[in-house]
Amino acid sequence: MDKYQKIEKLGEGAYGIVYKAQNRETNEVVALKRIRLDNEEEGVPCTAIREISLLKELKDQNIVRLYDVLHKERKLILVFEYLDSDLKKFLDSNGGDIDEWTIKQMMYQLLKGIAFCHEHRVLHRDLKPQNLLINKKGELKLGDFGLARAFGIPVRSYSRDVVTLWYRAPDVLMGSKQYSTSIDLWSAGCIFAEMASGSPLFPGSSVSDQLQCIFKVLGTPTEETWPKVSQVPEYKRDFEIFAPIPLESLLPKLDPLGIDLLKKLLEYPPDKRITASDALQHPYFDDLRRKEQSTDNLATSK
Ligand code: AMP
Repeated sequence: MDKYQKIEKLGEGAYGIVYKAQNRETNEVVALKRIRLDNEEEGVPCTAIREISLLKELKDQNIVRLYDVLHKERKLILVFEYLDSDLKKFLDSNGGDIDEWTIKQMMYQLLKGIAFCHEHRVLHRDLKPQNLLINKKGELKLGDFGLARAFGIPVRSYSRDVVTLWYRAPDVLMGSKQYSTSIDLWSAGCIFAEMASGSPLFPGSSVSDQLQCIFKVLGTPTEETWPKVSQVPEYKRDFEIFAPIPLESLLPKLDPLGIDLLKKLLEYPPDKRITASDALQHPYFDDLRRKEQSTDNLATSK
């Protein structure tokens, strides 16, 4: 720990306190995350250390780099790349009103980060605007990837607040244990809608309220809209019935292609939900991809 000089406390996340710090040798500014473990008396489980060490190899432009894992006594300290802000703070500072091109750029980077992790068989399981970090260059990077597998999906934050359910997929809310990559795409859909409207799409206050918030917008699932839904562990025959509301009426800022992508991210059956790599090929991103290619061409012709 002597290697780092703490500068200030940045916040309290789901896994522990986060500090801004500086490497005394290189002067590099980093974010230190001190992981709180429930069984701290017994030390850090070696499975968690193994899992976390693997994440050091996960290097991508849209993933927050994990530089180091420090294991001292009964504590685990993760040393991350430092970024100036996160998507929640960015949305709040703009009064929830960000332009369509910025939404598209953020969404593209979010999906790129997810696609990279999924290609490497790592799930996030708890994506939300607070753990999408951004910098002044407009880059967006995913934080906390892989931590859920090492430490479990957070139930309470460090300060014991209940962790938000707003971005959690309906299959997970209904007790499905078959976690797959599709759960991160549901969260991406919720984040997409939130960027477009400035407020969370499904702001539930408990598991049942969360499901009801979803049903009120997308309609209560049926065997037609979600084959085998009645076999999901906590499916209830007496779920209140709601008809779907057209998403375009809730999100006037999104063009028809944006709405189409959103619907594919918010598909009820997990196996029908669009994958991150397919979402990146969606026509909604055509203009952005074209622009990216022309800048690439410009760079190589120089
Ligand atoms: P988290 O544990 O990811 O929920 O983070 C708690 C707080 O620390 C949030 O306000 C984040 O914006 C901030 N934070 C987390 N990771 C970083 C990082 N790598 N760089 C800068 N701030 C961070």
